[in-house]
Parts: sequence; C-alpha cells; structure tokens
Amino acid sequence: MTTATVTAPLCRNFINGRWVESRSGQTLERRNPANLQEVTSVAPLSTREEVREAIAAAKAAFPAWRDKPAPVRGKILARAAALMEKQKDALARTLCREEGKTLKESLVEVQRSINILEFTAGEGRRMGGETIPSETAKNIAYTIKQPLGVVGAITPWNFPVAIPVWKAAPALVAGNTVVLKPAELTPECAAKVVEIFAEAGAPAGVLNMVLGAGEEVGDELLRDPEVRAISFTGSNEVGSLIYSLAARQMKKCQCEMGGKNPVVVLRDADLALATQSVVLGAFGSSGQRCTATSRVVVEEAIADRFVQMIVEQTRKLKVGNGLDPDVDVGPLVDEQQLKTVLRYLEIGKKEARLLHGGVRIAGGDYENGYFVAPTVFDHVPWDSTIAQEEIFGPVLSVIRVPNFEEALRVANSVKYGLSSSIYTNDARKIFEFIDRIETGMTHVNAPTVASEAQIPFGGMKATGVGLREMGRVAIDFYTELKAVYIDYAPPKG
Ligand code: NAD
Repeated sequence: MTTATVTAPLCRNFINGRWVESRSGQTLERRNPANLQEVTSVAPLSTREEVREAIAAAKAAFPAWRDKPAPVRGKILARAAALMEKQKDALARTLCREEGKTLKESLVEVQRSINILEFTAGEGRRMGGETIPSETAKNIAYTIKQPLGVVGAITPWNFPVAIPVWKAAPALVAGNTVVLKPAELTPECAAKVVEIFAEAGAPAGVLNMVLGAGEEVGDELLRDPEVRAISFTGSNEVGSLIYSLAARQMKKCQCEMGGKNPVVVLRDADLALATQSVVLGAFGSSGQRCTATSRVVVEEAIADRFVQMIVEQTRKLKVGNGLDPDVDVGPLVDEQQLKTVLRYLEIGKKEARLLHGGVRIAGGDYENGYFVAPTVFDHVPWDSTIAQEEIFGPVLSVIRVPNFEEALRVANSVKYGLSSSIYTNDARKIFEFIDRIETGMTHVNAPTVASEAQIPFGGMKATGVGLREMGRVAIDFYTELKAVYIDYAPPKG
C-alpha cells in the first residue's frame, strides 16, 4: 500500500516561547522510510545566528527559572506527562511515519517518555543535598544542588521522542534553561515534544529548539561560551569531536554513544527464553537501538540447537510498514543507513556463514522503503569486523565459544560497553558475569534492550563519558554541588 504525498508540515524553530520560521531559506525534506512517496515534513537548516538567538533567549530566561522552587518546576513536567498521555496515539503515529519503527514500538517509546516525565517531575521534590558532620565544634556543613545555566542538548534520530525528553526533563527540573538541537531526520517528533513542554507551562525561553545540521547548529552550541553544558547522544565519531570541543571551553559534557551488546548463552540456559530475547533484541526497531543485541556468544555444546531455534524464530518475522499491526520489523531510517548495513552484509558474507537474510527486500511495496531482511550470521570470529563494529541494523552475529571464561572474554572484547545479558541458572556464573562484564547496564535472563525511567542508563568504555542519564543520578549532570560551612559558635566574651 502506498500513499500519495499530502501537504507536509513546515517545521519551525521554537525560540523564546514562539514558533518562528528560519531565515536561512534552506530546507531538508523528510520522507517516510517505509513509504518514500510520503513527505512527512520539511525542516529548515537554520543558521548560526538563529542558534545564538535561542541561546540568548535561554540566558535571559535563566534567572527567573532558577529562582522558581524545584517542586514548582516539577509540576510543569507532571503536566507535560499528562498532555503526552492524551496525545499518545497521535504522537506514536508521527514517530512511526517519521522514524520508521513499528507503531507498537512507537507506543512503547512514548510510554517510556511519559514515565520519564512522571519520575523526573517528582525529582523536583527530592533535589536535596546532604548534611555532613563538621570536625569543628558548633559548625555544620551541608551541600546544595544548583543549576548550571544554559544547557545544549544534541540528540539522535533513533529515539526521537524519548531522548529529547530524557535530557530536557532533568535539565529543566534542576533549574537550567535548554536549547535542543534534534536530529535532522526527526524534526517533527522533536517539535511535538517541545510543544508539549510549552503547553504544560514552560515559560518563554526556558526550552528552545533550533533545527538544522549538526555541523552548524550543533557546532554553534559547542562554540558559544554562554552554553555551560552539552548533553549529547549519537555516534562515536561525532561524540569524540563534541567531547574535545567542549573541553576547550571547559563545558561540562556527557556523551552517550554506540554499542555492540552481547547476550551470553550458557549450556544450561532456558533456550526458548533466550531465543525470544535475542530475536527481540537483535531485530526490534530494525536493530537501530544503541542497546540492540548484535552479538550472541553461545557455548559450543548447545550452539547447533540454539542457532536452529534462532533461525526458525527469525523466519517468522514480518518485515514492512510499521503502521501495519502485523509487522514486526520496520525499515531502516534512510538511504545512508541502508547503504551502511548493506556494506556490512557483504563484509559478513566473507567473514562468516550466512544462515538467514543478508539482502535488501525489494519488489512490490518494498521498493518504496529501506527494508532489509533480518540477518543471522553463524561461526562469526570474535575479532571480525561484523563482531566488532556497530552496524545499527537487523544483523545478528553468533559467536561460538568453548566455555564460560571464553564467553566472558569475547563479550568484553569490543571497544563499546553499553548493555549485556546472560542466560543461565548457574548462580556462581551469574554473579561472576555481573562483576566482570564491562557494560554500564547488564541483564540476567532478560533482553539487552530493557530500561526503566528510574534506573540509570548509559555505558562505559567508548560508549559513554560523563555522568549517567535517567534515574536519580541524571540530576547530577545538570547541577553543580555547592558545599556550605556554617559556624554558629556564640561570640567569645
Ligand atoms: P550522529 O552522531 O550522526 O548524530 C547525533 C546528533 O549529533 C544529531 O543531532 C546530529 O545533527 C548532531 N551532530 C552531527 N555532527 C555534529 C557536529 N559536528 N557538532 C555537533 N553536533 C553534531 O548519530 P545518529 O546517527 O543520529 O544516531 C545513531 C547513534 O546514536 C548510534 O551510534 C547509536 O548507538 C547512538 N545512540 C546511543 C544511545 C546511548 O544512550 N548510548 C542512545 C541512542 C543512540
């Protein structure tokens, strides 16, 4: 089924509480990756001057916003949660058409965003420091958390609702003002998020959004000295550039980047459960999740049987337009991502044994989108390209190992360290795995992709630098800690 183009909305910037058209005259057209005949939006490639205007608005709004009590700021987030709840279906549809993930997955992402708003709203009432005993008599010491000022948030396309929310919500409740620079591919989702915050009562200038290219809009956020901190999620290539630019101005910086997440399956594992989890983790969102399962490290003793179960389950997946409720796997986000994945498929065919997929799905309605068959490679060498590099597509590498020790070594053999999982009932091995696995999040008998609003999210090694996001710890990035010493000894004499 293909849909002819209807009038696509022209996205605007949001600066100082107003929706304003960019003066750049340059635009970017976005098409539904499951139906390329449908233009979903046209967004501006804004100028550096427009970014500076947004930063100035955020700076002007800061003094009044920081002086509002944190519980009052939190109430705005609670209202945003309620508004998002009301718009859940419409927002999920926008997400599905703009980014490509299925409607089911889009609903999960919107729900996750609501959860984050709800949780973070409550942080307004909990943002205390600690009281600490002093070594001097009649002295008291304590800490307070204070906002930084203007914060820049630079976000990717793969969670175009949740990631802007999980950066803006803690930044705002902590008393900062924000300039959001969303991904070029998902302007409409970002605009909806900003609209919800504004409707919920965020005062003018407190949350601003400037659409456009990373090299211009994102770069200006890094170069402007008024921006005190940068929260970035995206690729390692861009993240390392951002980290170094932020360092030059001593900006506080957090970067959450790629993953190459392993599931370890031991000989005593519940194989049906492990199969379900690996297939969901590898092919959900077409593998375009930072927490996607891209490697399964399996003990040789059960590998043949397990691989057969994986392939059988993968065969049942229906690929197509995510608006169709029967579809399990949507398209890749754009032509660039399609080319990248196809290149890795060719590399994989040389490095390992292809068991399923390995091709672009073409013909009929598939011609209108960027569809790739869910792909399983077996006998993948642990140090091969497809086992080491983030592919960001529906590609699973099976790596066979002789025992648990080797499984752990292989699981840790990549530069990334975001998420991991182990399937076994052996308590000793579970705790050994938890202790030694080099990832910021780990799961036992559960998929690599699960996450909850109140639990810290982020990675170690090349995946993440700076403080974790989500959970209570999210506030730490967006605040300075001030230590206070008070001497209340009565005057002598
Ligand atoms: P990307 O790095 O290409 O872009 C991310 C953002 O950075 C975009 O808004 C982009 O415009 C901006 N940008 C690009 N160049 C810039 C520059 N020179 N200066 C400033 N900003 C610039 O990433 P992507 O393709 O949008 O997202 C996919 C990547 O994100 C994957 O690697 C994925 O693993 C990662 N990701 C990580 C997490 C996590 O929490 N660890 C979550 C989601 C996605």
